[in-house]
This record gives sequence, C-alpha cells and structure tokens, in this order.
Amino acid sequence: MRGRFAPSPTGYIHLGNVWTAFLCWLQVRQAGGTLVLRIEDIDEQRSKPVFEQALLEDLRWLGLTWDEGPDAGGACGPYVQQQRYDFYAACLQSIQERGLLYPCYCSRARLQAIGAPHAGEHTVYDGHCYGLTDEERRQMKKAPSFRIHVPPRHIAFSDGIYGRQEAFLPTSCGDFVLRRADGLYAYQLAVSADDGAMAITHVLRGRDLLSSTAQQIWLMELLGYTPPVYTHVPMLIDGQGQRLSKRQHGITVRELRSHGVTAAQVLSYLAWKGGLLPDPAVYSLDELLHYCDLQRLGQKDIRMDDDVYQAITAFT
Ligand code: GLU
Repeated sequence: MRGRFAPSPTGYIHLGNVWTAFLCWLQVRQAGGTLVLRIEDIDEQRSKPVFEQALLEDLRWLGLTWDEGPDAGGACGPYVQQQRYDFYAACLQSIQERGLLYPCYCSRARLQAIGAPHAGEHTVYDGHCYGLTDEERRQMKKAPSFRIHVPPRHIAFSDGIYGRQEAFLPTSCGDFVLRRADGLYAYQLAVSADDGAMAITHVLRGRDLLSSTAQQIWLMELLGYTPPVYTHVPMLIDGQGQRLSKRQHGITVRELRSHGVTAAQVLSYLAWKGGLLPDPAVYSLDELLHYCDLQRLGQKDIRMDDDVYQAITAFT
C-alpha cells in the first residue's frame, strides 16, 4: 500500500487538515504501507514557503510520520509540486498529441454567466471554445486556458465510505481546465499525474473531492496509470454546519500547541468525535493505531464543539 497526504501550504494547518492527515496516517500505518507527503503548492499566489515549513513542523509535532517527502526523499520525488512543472508539461504534451487539448478564451464573466464560477463544484463547461476554427483562434487577443475534451464515458468506482459512485463525464465535469490562462497548471492535472507517477495505491481525503474523482480516474488512465482505491472521509463542521477552513475560524495546530495542548489530546479528541474510539480519553499514538477502526467512520460530517479548545483540554 502506498498512501499520500497532499496538503496545500496556503495557511497554518487547522483541525480539518489534522483530521485528514491523521486518517491517511492511520490507514497506511495499520496496513504497514508507505506514506508519501506531497506539497501541493501549484497555486503560486496562495502558497507560501513559511506555511510549508510550518506544515512539516506541525505534522512532526503531531507525530504523524511519513516515509517519502520533501525532507525524507524517496524514489518518486520531487515531492513539491512547484518542482514538477517539467513533468506536468510532458503530460500536457502527450494529451495534446492525442488531440484532446484545446484553448479556451472564455472570460470569467462568461463562465460565471453559464454557472461555472468555482472549479471543482460540479461545474460543467458548455464547450463554447471547442468548436473554434484555427482562424478564429488566431484572432483572439487574450491568453487562453487549456481544456481537455472529455468523451461520453461513464466512470464508476467504489468509495471506501460513500460506496458505489458513477459519473458521466460530459455532464459531471464537462471539458475541464488543465492549464490556466496565467500559465499555472490546474489541480486536476497535477494531482492525477502525481498520484499516478508516485504509484499511489490508496487515496484518502475529504469528501469535498468526491465529485472530482471520476475525472481524475479518467485522466490517470489516459496518462497510462492505474487509479488508486479511494476513501473519501466526512468533513469537520462548526455549529453552523460550515466546514472548518483556513480562511475562517479553523483552530490551528500552532494555537493549540501554544496553549499547552498535547498532540495526543488533539488526535484523541478528533478520533473520538469521528466515532473511532470507545471513550473520550487520551490515547497515545500507538494506542490510536491499535484501537481506531476506519470501518467505523460514517458518512455524516462531524460537528465540532463550540468551544473546541475547552473540549480538547477536557481530554485526560
Ligand atoms: N491539495 C489538496 C488540498 O489541500 C488535496 C488534494 C487531494 O487530496 O487530492 O485540499
């Protein structure tokens, strides 16, 4: 088994990140597999070296060890996406050679008007630029993004928690962007190419990415890789039902640590809230490995206490 944790260094890690990192670690360590840490920093504007450093530090403090990664090395490196641009360019090239790539000149305003504002949220491009002639393309004044044309195919897979999933590519994702107009590679390309090239056999991540999985499976197959087994996990939510996020109020590992909370308290609290432990008490990392059963995870999102700090410190 080869699993991976693939965080983006766009902020200090918070409980939501710890939750998925912990479950990745649990899945791989319980099976005696290899855990890869990959830094997904292709969003150059939002990714910061300071957050990357902090990420490694915070994961180490938590005790969530990895076997291959930016610091540990390994046979499938580099493990930082900004260092893998030549590889993404080669993947794009091979897709282009098969005639599947085309430039898209649509403005953000147009994409918004057809209801495709957020990448990854069931947005379906209407194929407007697919049929442009070479002459029409030459007349365009702006830098294009590049989309891949999806075939009329059904992709089915079985998710470890959400069960059988099926998607029809033209209506589930439509032609999607692989390279943005600003030249940056898109998440869908980088993640699929990397999971393939790093020979990942098991992907565990938040259920927010369940809807991207069919297109990633298809892209991986196109690039000649065997897709991994997927387990999407419920997300942590606050009292209002909002996902914990870096942008809002997610409590960071740093804050908790500076208040004297221990790593075992944080992980035990999350494991308990997720229904993985028999009682609300502090378990050591070894004990967590022994007692936590991923089969006990449900599909429902997990509601955090209103005062998380107080709830965690109550764990003894
Ligand atoms: N880098 C993504 C994130 O931070 C995760 C990608 C994945 O697990 O596929 O949300």
